[in-house]
Amino acid sequence: MKKDIRSYSKEALRDYFVSQGQQSFRGNQVYEWLWKKNAHTFEEMTNLSKETRLFLEEHFSINHIAVDNIQRSTDGTVKNAVKLHDGLVVESVMIPTENRTTACVSSQVGCAMGCTFCATARLKKQRNLLPDEIYDQVAAISKESELLYGHKLTNIVFMGMGEPLLNYENVMKAIDKITSEEGLGMSPRRITLSTVGIPKMIKRMADDQVKFNLALSLHSAIDEVRSKMMPVNISNNLDELMDALQYWHQKTGNRITFEYVVWKGINDKQKDIDALVHYCKQVPAKVNLIEYNPIDDGAFEQASPIIIEQYVSELEKNGIIVNIRRSRGKDIDAACGQLANKS
Ligand code: SAH
Repeated sequence: MKKDIRSYSKEALRDYFVSQGQQSFRGNQVYEWLWKKNAHTFEEMTNLSKETRLFLEEHFSINHIAVDNIQRSTDGTVKNAVKLHDGLVVESVMIPTENRTTACVSSQVGCAMGCTFCATARLKKQRNLLPDEIYDQVAAISKESELLYGHKLTNIVFMGMGEPLLNYENVMKAIDKITSEEGLGMSPRRITLSTVGIPKMIKRMADDQVKFNLALSLHSAIDEVRSKMMPVNISNNLDELMDALQYWHQKTGNRITFEYVVWKGINDKQKDIDALVHYCKQVPAKVNLIEYNPIDDGAFEQASPIIIEQYVSELEKNGIIVNIRRSRGKDIDAACGQLANKS
């Protein structure tokens, strides 16, 4: 089988050309075509000789993703179904607001975390995405943004399918490329990684001195409640999680964003609010209250606006920043937790 040429670093490509008796700068040229110029074929690489192009063609493949199906929501949100080289499909979403465009990208095909309120969990985990498959989702949305809205992509959130911290190496490689001048040249400050909360991996990220933002899907600050909805909490409880978050804050100086949905009958009592306030006081954090996006079976229902207002006022009273996040792209199943390859 041909090897995917985009799994090579620039140095490896330079070495490869030298090993073939060619000059090392050919490696730089190919690298630029592959990443900055987003070439899909060797034929496009016009500053290489015909023989070199044919030679590369014989020995390598360029495994680009293919955006298969594009759906547009009435609110402007766009969902891409992305076909991978082995036929599997993931979804990514472009969310435009007045002066920015956010790409919501997937890190795995399916997901193993089993959160009971999330449609992606139903797919189970099929495989990790490769660095270039993650990068390509971002590059595709960046292109679409320029085409549709006339401006570049401004933000990236790892809130699509999958748990990014269980595909750590590949996600980090993709972010390196997204932020490098040879890739998309985006600032890491405009990237947010969202996780169910795996303490060991949060500490590792902190040790690796990453520069992007961290969002944590909290949904409850009471162990029994959280464990029922998010099985990950059974073996990684809230105390361990807090320990990792404090470590993250110490090492990076960044605060954490807690994502939180309020559900009827699940976390809509005063004791739930008190627990959240108490949890937030242990580390610099802000809270995004996100709207629940129903997935088929109707087992969960968003709490009433009165309860949500109670959350807001208690958090604010305690000096904690809180935002209410409207969901986008619901009509095309593109909102948080709805990505499940339905089409
Ligand atoms: N695995 C990562 C990223 C994917 S989910 C994580 O869990 O953070 C992105 C966000 O959508 C998470 O905060 C998740 O809890 C939330 N989410 C999942 N299902 C949802 C639903 N049905 N409605 C609203 N938010 C949901």
